[in-house]
Amino acid sequence: MPIRRLPPEAVNRIAAGEVIERPAAAVKELVENALDAGAKRIAIRIERGGLGLISIEDDGGGIPRDELALAVERHATSKLTAGAGGDVDLLNIHTMGFRGEALPSIGAVARLAITSKARGVNDTWAIEVEGGALHSVKPAAWAALTESGTRVEVRDLFFATPARLKFMKSERSEMMAVSDVVKRLAMARPDVAFSLEHDARTSLRLAAEKDPENEGRRARLSAILGADFAPNCILLDQTRDTVRLSGFAGLPTFHRGTREHQHLFVNGRPVKDKLIVGAVRAAYQDLLARDRHPVAALFIDLPPDEVDVNVHPAKTEVRFRDAALVRGLIVGGLSHALASAGHRASTTTAQSALGAVRAYEAPQPFLRPGAPAWAMAEEHVAAGDFMMPSGRVEYGASSPAAAPFDADVLSEALAPAGGTPALHNDEDARFFPLGAARAQIHETYIVAQTEDGIVIVDQHAAHERLVYERMKQMLANGGVRRQGLLIPEVVELDPSEAEAIVARADELAQLGLVIESFGPGAILVRETPALLGHIDAAGMLKDLADDIAELGEAHALKERLEEVCSSMACRGSVRAGRRLTGDEMNSLLRQMEATPFSGQCNHGRPTYVELKLADIEKLFGRR
Ligand code: ADP
Ligand code: MG
Repeated sequence: MPIRRLPPEAVNRIAAGEVIERPAAAVKELVENALDAGAKRIAIRIERGGLGLISIEDDGGGIPRDELALAVERHATSKLTAGAGGDVDLLNIHTMGFRGEALPSIGAVARLAITSKARGVNDTWAIEVEGGALHSVKPAAWAALTESGTRVEVRDLFFATPARLKFMKSERSEMMAVSDVVKRLAMARPDVAFSLEHDARTSLRLAAEKDPENEGRRARLSAILGADFAPNCILLDQTRDTVRLSGFAGLPTFHRGTREHQHLFVNGRPVKDKLIVGAVRAAYQDLLARDRHPVAALFIDLPPDEVDVNVHPAKTEVRFRDAALVRGLIVGGLSHALASAGHRASTTTAQSALGAVRAYEAPQPFLRPGAPAWAMAEEHVAAGDFMMPSGRVEYGASSPAAAPFDADVLSEALAPAGGTPALHNDEDARFFPLGAARAQIHETYIVAQTEDGIVIVDQHAAHERLVYERMKQMLANGGVRRQGLLIPEVVELDPSEAEAIVARADELAQLGLVIESFGPGAILVRETPALLGHIDAAGMLKDLADDIAELGEAHALKERLEEVCSSMACRGSVRAGRRLTGDEMNSLLRQMEATPFSGQCNHGRPTYVELKLADIEKLFGRR
């Protein structure tokens, strides 16, 4: 067959396939157009999941009569201006659109009608395109009360491309995708009012917020993501060089099963960007189990020439000029914010436990200056008052007969605060965030009384976190203390696993685990981390082999070590079932207050729940 040029209709339909692959994509393009036109109110009506009708009405600047025909022409846009040499600056984009493809693409595959009243003129004009066939511009009526605006109606989407129509999912799932797109755009623009109707039923109504940031953003996000979003998130605002990271990061205990709850925006554009997703994962890595995902709404703003948005037809992917800077800002910013949230655990934990409805109350990080009781505790921790090297603590890893060990971490966390008995006087301890220990129940939970409620601590989860944070600290300060085995232990493993572990012998030695190769498939364990006491070396090495296999090479060394710490901490922590004395319990509580991230164990489960007296009173019908 000879080479021939395709007719323009065919070109448009082929191109439309990229930009408009389902109703949600058309909605996204049209809402973006309304935003670019300066709309403050956008009303969206959908019928049959968008396959029947998509109608979008805005109060933006409108399209003048003589530009209507151009608007539906391919590669015609008002958003880029070519320079003298005919080239455009694709790295200086301040609008959502710039490719001039959306309207012609929709017109090629559907029946498109645009009615518009441009600002400053009195008459309204309309144009129609049906399956690529252009009709002439006609006068129309503009019933809306706004001074200017545009209504774009798309009927029978994909009627001109029946093949594409076959790929549509149910109307319900197309509508879910539409609603998702609208929500994401609405999150980025709290200053714009949105309404969304499906088959004559309102599914979303969002009033415009006055404050485009902070409070307005918080209100908009809560309206979309639910009332429990804000109280379970930490406000972020950090700038590095020219890049700003703002928004909200969910507490680790507020985790979800999918990544769908991470909403990412670059210069106000909703994106699904691998770099950002990876950076978020890294920041939460040691706070969440691998199959759990944090909730977040993150806004990255940077000068347009620092980011290329023209890498994807639907513009959902971007490329940063300085990717390392952006990654560093996200990992650093999130870690910092999470650390400053101290040991806060999510409010939903307590709420679901109680089924109680607690009025929203901005959660305060515990690590705040000014509270006298708290300041006292902080000083004591800093001064090392909680160290009690004299007492050897029994470590009941699996059997009560397990030998005692030189457990600096364990004893530190569980030791009574020797020199400061007054600290644990009930009167004072009540004023600590985690209160005064009152009892241990089922040898698993510590019950403490706070000023206005009770706190229940999962002793294993809490202790695991303390051990882990402590190990990380020691790691950062140059190594974990080791203890030599009287008789080195030989552990048999799969040869490739053994090799992978031996390859990391140096890193492991830093963690207190000294091993060497003992022929193919065998490893000799000479020393183990002192703070773990007697360990099951074979079990530990198998776990390590799994970790190393799963984590692969992509991770930074430190992240890998911290992962390893995490598994070690889990094995090395005080188990449920160990009886604690009152002093040990109080000491654990004070340590938790002083330890970053102690609100959740290494798997993202909460280490404690707090029930306010008011909630308890509600339970008993006293309120
Ligand atoms: P792009 O948004 O990439 O420029 P589109 O095909 O989406 O391309 O739109 C073409 C042009 O039509 C836009 O550049 C804009 O000038 C105009 N336009 C589209 N929708 C609207 C609207 N809702 N209000 C005002 N002008 C619009
Ligand atoms: Mg557009």
